[in-house]
Amino acid sequence: MSGAIPTLEDLGDVSGKRVLVRTDFNVPMETNDAGERSITDDFRIRSALPTIEWLIERGASVVCCSHLGRPKGSVDEKYSMHPVKVRLAALTPGVELLENLRFNPGEEANSKDFVDSLIHDIDLYVNDAFGAAHRAHASIVGPPATLPSAMGRLLQREVEVLLALRNTPKHPFTAVLGGSKISDKLGVVEALLETVDSLIIGGAMCFTFLAAQGYSIGDSLFEADQVDTCKRLLTLGKPIHLPEDLVGLDAQGNYATYGRRLPPGAKGFDIGPGSATAFSDLIMEARTVFWNGPMGMFEDERFAGGTRTVAHAMADTKAFTVVGGGDSAAALAQFGLDDAVDHVSTGGGASLELLELGDLPGLAALRKAPHAS
Ligand code: ADP
Ligand code: MG
Repeated sequence: MSGAIPTLEDLGDVSGKRVLVRTDFNVPMETNDAGERSITDDFRIRSALPTIEWLIERGASVVCCSHLGRPKGSVDEKYSMHPVKVRLAALTPGVELLENLRFNPGEEANSKDFVDSLIHDIDLYVNDAFGAAHRAHASIVGPPATLPSAMGRLLQREVEVLLALRNTPKHPFTAVLGGSKISDKLGVVEALLETVDSLIIGGAMCFTFLAAQGYSIGDSLFEADQVDTCKRLLTLGKPIHLPEDLVGLDAQGNYATYGRRLPPGAKGFDIGPGSATAFSDLIMEARTVFWNGPMGMFEDERFAGGTRTVAHAMADTKAFTVVGGGDSAAALAQFGLDDAVDHVSTGGGASLELLELGDLPGLAALRKAPHAS
């Protein structure tokens, strides 16, 4: 990657200008029995406020836009931005918010007509949607092709922290990976193996690695077509720490604890207490730690122990700590530890892709944007 990405200051005088701000308001929602939707965590809305307020204080009028869920290119009330609009108005009045970008198929297809409709009355563009910056969608790469553009404060901090982690980490650097999206994450495992001193693997991801080492994994979640990749990663020479004990349900559905070997029919849903302690020792000894993906199915309290122990180690270690991933961030918040780490990334896939590749389509588009006059 080359060339600086413009920041808000590079927009010049924003007074009287209409600014389109691409935010990531893809917030978790729940629906009650009456079918009313409410926001369960407004972290992503609050995270966008510094940028929005910076613009408003300088006399700009702000039009926000975001996707929400996966409505597949047509209007679907289940995904309307209305609850977000209400929360945003309560937090910072006077900001416009467009309807869900993904109601229009042109968003994901990056169609020129859709870009034109987004920017027809707009003077400047700001991208503050780190969580979507890895997608070459209309609202991410379209406006900066013609409008003076900048990254917002949230995107700026994400890029600074994650590129520092990627390029100049303090050693020992340990990465902790878990969660359930195994094939999605193996690319970043390979990239991380070049910079980290050790890698810790828990969550559902560990079973594909354990299977690659020849352990029986019962009926645990695993991806058969990734076993060979895991085998190769295990031979690259960097220490990869896998759980030495596991917790789950036996074939009859009863809670059970195991070593590394699961009997037929058993399902592993968490790392065991011995592994959790071993992993937290490694985190305590590190000077940089990146964590993505819960150690177990933490939504079920019986299987939250491993994730909780790792989260407390992240909070207690003197290391520089970065957490990426929607579910990992939710776990931290559930344990009340979200303020105890150095950086919680608002983007799961985006943080992994930036660590893996060192650049994102949304950042490349900003770098090429015309300068403000
Ligand atoms: P993130 O959002 O942090 O990137 P993922 O989306 O990859 O993480 O994975 C989170 C999900 O993984 C959680 O819903 C959790 O319940 C699930 N999970 C973790 N460990 C296991 C396991 N051993 N078996 C099944 N699901 C698991
Ligand atoms: Mg997730």
